[in-house]
Amino acid sequence: MAVIALACGASSAQAQRTAAIDVTTARLMQRLGALAADSMEGRRAGTPGSARARAWIVSELTTMGAKPIGPSYTAPVILRARAGSDTTGANIVARIAGTQAGGPVLVLSAHYDHLGVRNGEVFNGADDDASGCVALLAIAERLLREPPQHDVILAFFDAEESGMVGSKAFVSAPPVPLDRIALNINLDMVARQDGRALWVSGTSHHPVLKPIAEAAARNAAVTIRFGHDTKDLKPGDDWTASSDHAAFHTRGIPFLYLGVEDHADYHKSGDDADKVDPAFYRGTVEFAYALVRAADGRLASVPRAKP
Ligand SMILES: [Zn+2]
Repeated sequence: MAVIALACGASSAQAQRTAAIDVTTARLMQRLGALAADSMEGRRAGTPGSARARAWIVSELTTMGAKPIGPSYTAPVILRARAGSDTTGANIVARIAGTQAGGPVLVLSAHYDHLGVRNGEVFNGADDDASGCVALLAIAERLLREPPQHDVILAFFDAEESGMVGSKAFVSAPPVPLDRIALNINLDMVARQDGRALWVSGTSHHPVLKPIAEAAARNAAVTIRFGHDTKDLKPGDDWTASSDHAAFHTRGIPFLYLGVEDHADYHKSGDDADKVDPAFYRGTVEFAYALVRAADGRLASVPRAKP
């Protein structure tokens, strides 16, 4: 396994952790640093920083050969009027063709927007949710090299932070008929190691998905925990409606949500790439990839829920 040093600019803490990491992990961290850079100005929906982040993601997709559905990678999202922001945002949607195209579809999602700039401070949202977007890119590259059985749609949602506007727009005007979407796997905050575990949420609603996720977890390099998806939990601990998977859930589409517990930098300006432990992040991305593979193999057997 090749070993390289990370580029300069990293904090000393990160430099220590990443003095020698493999090429795949270094690429993850490089992409995380790019999408969570100050130049993206916190990626708030409807801002120039958001447009820059969008252009960066589209460029990554184009380079790797992931194709748009239709003429464009972007689908407009109407935003609430807000001072300093445009009223149009956009989801980014691409498709990886399965070997048995035409059947059930898996939607793999993350949101690329974050909180923007507040009082002169850039909220970079490295964990929330540049980490999910970069994970999607890494998974997409591997799926392109070794195609899945079923079509996989990559959805990079806009405006999650302002009411999950992008994912609601996606299910209202889906790129394929909704009844073809068998499963949503949503990644939102998958990089921070503070809680020492990645959570898989949704199997209480869809028990048939649990053995699929358990199979993927068997070789995981990070601790995988199940839960945060029952009504008996205290407010905020049931994550059923906490991110873009909610739009799918309300339409009766089964979901699995991957995320970490809130941490000290959650929705703070300190949510930066240099706070991420590369080994933990690599582990969560590897698990997400294994989960996509396991779900792809069983997609036809996932029953529809009642909306
Ligand atoms: Zn988020």
